[in-house]
Amino acid sequence: MEQTLTIIKPDSMAAGNAGKILAHLEQEGFQILALRRIHLSEAQARSFYEVHKERPFYDDLVAYMTEAPVIAAALEREDAVAHLRRVMGATNPEEAAAGTIRALYGTSIERNAIHGSDSPENAAIETDFFFSRADLLPS
Ligand code: ATP
Ligand code: MG
Repeated sequence: MEQTLTIIKPDSMAAGNAGKILAHLEQEGFQILALRRIHLSEAQARSFYEVHKERPFYDDLVAYMTEAPVIAAALEREDAVAHLRRVMGATNPEEAAAGTIRALYGTSIERNAIHGSDSPENAAIETDFFFSRADLLPS
């Protein structure tokens, strides 16, 4: 079994889509191992997306990610990282395949509803960002 990290982004929260997105993920066979609602501070958002700090959209991305609370979740499934990326769809909702979460709920290349880790290594780093080891121990 593999783990990955998702964030239900502020646009989804404000639009009341968090429950639908979690249900969509469960339907796709993901188990929710840990769940946390958090309103990211600017420092937290900057740190989480530090990899993008040289990109022109970085400041806008930080403003967007801090405008409302998010839900972070640690997910488990076979092939979790790649499967979540498939289920999310392309970064730009206009290019996302029909039925994907970004096609259903995203409204722009920035406001694209959901985050998903892009590799097992980053999934571990991003899960550590939101959750402690104790949150992820088997029950
Ligand atoms: P995420 O990391 O959030 O799962 P992603 O891996 O599909 O998304 P990245 O290239 O990592 O895409 O970009 C991170 C986030 O930055 C995007 O999800 C989006 O919110 C924002 N973003 C990416 N490209 C642009 C752009 N050209 N203009 C504005 N915002 C962008
Ligand atoms: Mg990314």
